[in-house]
Amino acid sequence: MKKLGFIGLGIMGSPMAANLVKAGFDVTVWNRTAAKCVPLVSLGARQGKSPRQVAERCDITFAMLADPAAAHAVCFGPEGVLEGIGDGRGYIDMSTVDDSTSCAIAAAISKAGGRFLEAPVSGTKKPAEDGTLIILAAGEQSLYDEAAAALGKLGKLSLYLGAAGQGARMKLVINMIMGGMMTAFCEGMALGQKGGLDGSQILAVLDAGALANPMFKGKGSMLLKGDFPTSFPLKHMQKDLRLAVALGDELGQPLHSAATANETFKQACAAGHADEDFSAVYLVIG
Ligand code: NAP
Repeated sequence: MKKLGFIGLGIMGSPMAANLVKAGFDVTVWNRTAAKCVPLVSLGARQGKSPRQVAERCDITFAMLADPAAAHAVCFGPEGVLEGIGDGRGYIDMSTVDDSTSCAIAAAISKAGGRFLEAPVSGTKKPAEDGTLIILAAGEQSLYDEAAAALGKLGKLSLYLGAAGQGARMKLVINMIMGGMMTAFCEGMALGQKGGLDGSQILAVLDAGALANPMFKGKGSMLLKGDFPTSFPLKHMQKDLRLAVALGDELGQPLHSAATANETFKQACAAGHADEDFSAVYLVIG
């Protein structure tokens, strides 16, 4: 069985790495804040000294990092993945980043003799725990094929979308829609309740009709309670909207709703809600 590495043990990376360990893979983990490795080591993972060492030792190294800056630091930084990759070993970055970041990493890994796949995911903390993420892969198809067994433990559906950059673009499109839906939902809930409607009745009406979806249902009860335990950090949604708007600039696509949603999420970050769930954007709307 292949030796796997996993770098980045945040909300998503920790349960994803745990699923690989539980599936019986020989997994080596690394995280910038080393304490987050402890539960994984207790499960049976090895702890790597640096991204470089993980990439040197493992056939395939996965990463799940905050943003483009983190993806860049882990790949290109001192003791980074780039220093350890080679001989056809694989690097699969599952972080949500822009296509330019992903393509720069792809080119560098390939130049160093490794193989690269981007594989951002759709789905949040619970699907990460349950191994039911949707994986949006692009890059080296041979690596996608080789990683199938491991990807099958992380997700319920994997799609191969073509050349590096296309997975990043797909992920930004999906999250841009999600961010816009969330602000529209929060505005509707705020307006309705200010107009004397019962919040749970608004949710019931939404859930009975064509607008029913798991996000309104799950986040709606959080809005009513005013409690926003973090599944998807608000700061990451703002990052995704920022990157989607930048992609719109690059491609000449007007994005009025996404640009407005981005400003609302920026306002929520500035108001101190960056580390709360993205549904806490309600606090600057309602
Ligand atoms: P998170 O809990 O904030 O974890 C971020 C990870 O990145 C941590 O391991 C953190 O290390 C690491 N990191 C940040 N800056 C770094 C740097 N400069 N160098 C090295 N490591 C660095 O985020 P998450 O929710 O797991 O999300 C991870 C990625 O998946 C993001 O791109 C996010 O947009 C995407 N995503 C998240 C969800 C979700 O629902 N949460 C769903 C789909 C996709 P430390 O522990 O040291 O801070």
